[in-house]
Amino acid sequence: MMGRTIFIDPGRCIGCQACVSACRECDSHRGKSMIHLDYTDEGSSVASLPTVCMHCEDPVAPCAEVCPADAILVTADGVVQQADTTRCIGCANCVNACPFGVPKIDLQAKLQMKCNLCYDRTAYGLAPMCATVCPTGALFYGTLEELQAERPGVQVADTFVFGESEVRTGVAMVVPADRVQWPVPGGLPVVEINGKDVRR
Ligand code: SF4
Ligand code: SF4
Repeated sequence: MMGRTIFIDPGRCIGCQACVSACRECDSHRGKSMIHLDYTDEGSSVASLPTVCMHCEDPVAPCAEVCPADAILVTADGVVQQADTTRCIGCANCVNACPFGVPKIDLQAKLQMKCNLCYDRTAYGLAPMCATVCPTGALFYGTLEELQAERPGVQVADTFVFGESEVRTGVAMVVPADRVQWPVPGGLPVVEINGKDVRR
């Protein structure tokens, strides 16, 4: 997990779309939101879940690993950038490699688009647009210590398993205190919570 990062807390999300609107304002992808806001069981539940790029750390971002054009840069501080417009050929390899279903292809531009943690802001110490407008703190930007100071006892997960593969991420998910056993809501089985293996 990065030092300052986004913590996603699905239990706080009210599906208001403020993050989606704020993301559209970003200079690097004007008019398009890079957040996917899912209403998981519309009609029977008000549950909603914001998804941003998880900025995979280990193994090195699968999207960048499979890109044949070296279009996806991982910065020294672990941020996985959206595709370089001058290199991307729109082949969608990254879309297929991402375990979290994050990148999308702009078919007209033949370009991959995804959240880059508002690098134009976070590189200068500012919070990403989505986290600045989220009215409930479902998208929190800061360090784990800052999150825990605001929300004592909070548990977070940054390691997820998909079949036999584990992925450690730069963005973390808040896990409900009464659900430290896996799977966590959303169907992603959790291996580590705050650095502790919870399978045993
Ligand atoms: S779509 Fe673009 S960024 Fe994605 S793998 Fe292909 S060339 Fe790389
Ligand atoms: S979540 Fe998907 S798009 Fe983001 S770094 Fe991981 S593989 Fe790449």
